[in-house]
Amino acid sequence: MTRVFNFSPGPATLPEPVLRQAAEEMLDWHGSGMSVMEMSHRGKEFMSIHAETEDLLKELMGIPANYKVLFMQGGAIGENAIVPMNLIGATGKADYVLTGDWSKKSYKEAKTYGQVNVAATGEASKFTALPKQQEWKLDPGAAYVHICSNETIGGVQFHWTPDTGRVPLVADMSSDILSRPIDVAKYGLIYAGAQKNIGPSGLTIVIVREDLLGHALPVTPSAFNYKVQAEADSMYNTPPTYAIYIAGLVLKHVKKLGGMKAVAQHNEEKAAILYDFLDATAFYRNPIAKEDRSRMNVPFWLKDDALNDAFLKGAQERGMIQLKGHRSVGGMRASIYNAMPIEGVKALVQYMKEFERQHG
Ligand code: PMP
Repeated sequence: MTRVFNFSPGPATLPEPVLRQAAEEMLDWHGSGMSVMEMSHRGKEFMSIHAETEDLLKELMGIPANYKVLFMQGGAIGENAIVPMNLIGATGKADYVLTGDWSKKSYKEAKTYGQVNVAATGEASKFTALPKQQEWKLDPGAAYVHICSNETIGGVQFHWTPDTGRVPLVADMSSDILSRPIDVAKYGLIYAGAQKNIGPSGLTIVIVREDLLGHALPVTPSAFNYKVQAEADSMYNTPPTYAIYIAGLVLKHVKKLGGMKAVAQHNEEKAAILYDFLDATAFYRNPIAKEDRSRMNVPFWLKDDALNDAFLKGAQERGMIQLKGHRSVGGMRASIYNAMPIEGVKALVQYMKEFERQHG
């Protein structure tokens, strides 16, 4: 068996020990005589998996006691509607900060549910830099301010936490949750699809401050009502049980590695290897402002787009896959989430050098 270095933006590579353990436990979880996939979500076995996963997330992220952790479905695109449905009712309006494709998508979807304003946009830089906090025009009467902490397509990432005063900060952390320590208390709500750093697709994590519950618009489906889900401990409907189980294994793995600080250091090292090389060559280019560069998704362009297919083919032959950039921007993109080993990044840079020598 040979495993590839998978640079996919998501669903993405997972830690090999986690996959091995899941394989071992596939037919008989801990002597229960069944797979986790076959368990009732209300049985004692799954209830213990669910509780352990939630506790581990709280511990690793340092989630304060006045926050609820919800395991939901519908992904981050679902949350683009679910967030305003649940929160905008407090004042009827919300601020959105546009930093790339994903935050633009969130903004568009929210318009259906209230008065939605663009508080800041990175458009002038073609979204290669975050708009500086001094330029933000925040409305003190907004129910929340929405950001995307890491733009998976564009490759910009917040390395600072915006100050939104008393207005709750809401962040789509789909592509950088669990990649570094964050101060959860600075956020009103955090949401993320699981399929990058946490586990398989199908699970959406929502971390919400309790005082924000209870403002859902009447149109909100009950399964997507945070208060209903919080009161039912995410069991109002059947949760994505197997995805929660894998998430639990990933969290245990992360804890074993040393938690958020250790993971962040590893991610910084990996990103530095790639960016240092990109900065040292004229053959490849990354246009993102240095202070805003993502440590999770690194887009880059070859000097000549006509070489793209040859580059991808050579990478594939060397066991490196999913390097093609998003269809909307072209070029290449290396997604280097938590589970991408440093060897994968080194192998990529070595191949990039070799390709440059041949075609430069
Ligand atoms: N937001 C961000 C930052 C993402 O990276 C993605 C997925 N790539 C989404 C939203 C959409 O997630 P989903 O397809 O799970 O709804």
